[in-house]
Amino acid sequence: MSESRNSRRTFLVRAATAAVAIPLGIRLIDRPAFAQDLPKLPLDNPQAKALNYVESTEGLTHPNFKPGSDCANCQFWTGGDAEWGPCTLFPGHHVAAKGWCSAWARKAG
Ligand code: SF4
Repeated sequence: MSESRNSRRTFLVRAATAAVAIPLGIRLIDRPAFAQDLPKLPLDNPQAKALNYVESTEGLTHPNFKPGSDCANCQFWTGGDAEWGPCTLFPGHHVAAKGWCSAWARKAG
């Protein structure tokens, strides 16, 4: 095989590899953080039920509920300004920023 054929073959292999790898790399870079892919906490989750979790405090009459409290201002919320985000009490799920449960505790600061 001549040197020019080898160069051509090397070029084609590299081009084919790039054609596959570049879109895959872009997809991985574009992909939101893994934490953002978490499913919403199901209301029938046993721990959610045990802690009386709700996705909205609207109309909530739980005796421990204090008006103005919700997941977004709870010390266990780590979702920042997101509408849904992680709660350290419910790993593997997202809870609603406007949600609430009986484990609510005011965020420090
Ligand atoms: S512990 Fe706090 S952030 Fe987590 S579900 Fe209960 S109220 Fe929401």
